[in-house]
Amino acid sequence: MSVPETGTLSVVLGRCIEAGTPLGPFEGMYFSGYTAVSDTGLLHAVEECPQLRKASGMRVVDFALDASSLARLCTNWSCRWAVPDDGRWPVFLDALDAVARLRPDDEETGEGRPGEAEISEAACLLSRGEYPQDEDDEAEWGRYEQARALRDDLLALWRDTQNRLIAAGEGLVACPWLRPWAEIKLAELAERAEQQRHRWAGICAPRALADGAAISTMSAPVLTPDIAFEVFGSEAPEVLGKVWRAWCARARWDGKPLVDAASAALGELHAALGRRRKGREEAEESLAKLTTDWAQRTRLAAVEQSAGHPWRLIAVRIPARGRAPHGGAVCEPLTLWELAVVAVYQVAVDWVRGTAALWVPQGIGDQLLAAESSMKAVDLIEGAENWAAPASVLLATWDPDGRSAVS
Ligand SMILES: [Zn+2]
Repeated sequence: MSVPETGTLSVVLGRCIEAGTPLGPFEGMYFSGYTAVSDTGLLHAVEECPQLRKASGMRVVDFALDASSLARLCTNWSCRWAVPDDGRWPVFLDALDAVARLRPDDEETGEGRPGEAEISEAACLLSRGEYPQDEDDEAEWGRYEQARALRDDLLALWRDTQNRLIAAGEGLVACPWLRPWAEIKLAELAERAEQQRHRWAGICAPRALADGAAISTMSAPVLTPDIAFEVFGSEAPEVLGKVWRAWCARARWDGKPLVDAASAALGELHAALGRRRKGREEAEESLAKLTTDWAQRTRLAAVEQSAGHPWRLIAVRIPARGRAPHGGAVCEPLTLWELAVVAVYQVAVDWVRGTAALWVPQGIGDQLLAAESSMKAVDLIEGAENWAAPASVLLATWDPDGRSAVS
């Protein structure tokens, strides 16, 4: 096997570019190779290719890359051609790899796939919280565990499909000549993504999303005499701030019912209490009253923000999940709240650009457009000349980063 020269990639072209792939600017590019003298069959990159071993003789051939030579490229792993490691080839090969990965997996079409009833049962359970009221009820504990696992699985499936669509979309923007050829594959997987989105959305609670959006309008509590935090002495205001921030973070970003935020606040309180016993119960009771009050005020704020107000049509760019450097864990740039909002409110999607149009209550729209959001977002109706057009048409007018093609 030849050692690739510096500045070149060593590529099994016969495997990376399947027969029938449109070649765009790579069409007509010259390569040298070998072929058996006895026939006009396969084109090989190296003399030592095992496929050539039985040939009575071989000759050197220069050929132009086109539909017919592409169909004759040897697929043996030793038949690697050197291609320049500059902008064009790696982008093309990445695009082909991304398109190849559009093939839907069959793992979740079988009988093991959870049904509507199972999903709505899990949704019902999780609307009451993440864990059962009675911690000693083992059967109930098991049901909650299953519901949480189902929710995680449904999200992971949808997000994996999204990732593949986003990668392929980026490839098709960079290599637009591939688009007509890849469109059916993209559409097939996009349909799968829709099914997965619907199923995950079935487990999300829209009211919890509106409540989450209202958190930013809430003001921090101040320590009043009725809050029994005496156990913390002079640090009581600081502890109150900590439990408030823990409550807000969970309520804002997790897309779960507010009851779950209360457990985050309680966790923070326990961390502050440490092993102290005296005054513990009073502090816990006080916190329970506080979180009930915060939840009530948040729900009212959500109603004020959104009920009776016109909804908004917001376009967002869905970022792909990334890998942490050094091959670490998967890095999810989106919060559960953002993922749930996309799942519940999506009315149109464009996988070539990785964008979606969301028809959302006003409060949620405000939060999507807020600076701290991890998705690029715009209001599709505000200032739109074509304001009467359907969401998919409005969405197509927005190119969030104007990516350029390989020329
Ligand atoms: Zn070969």
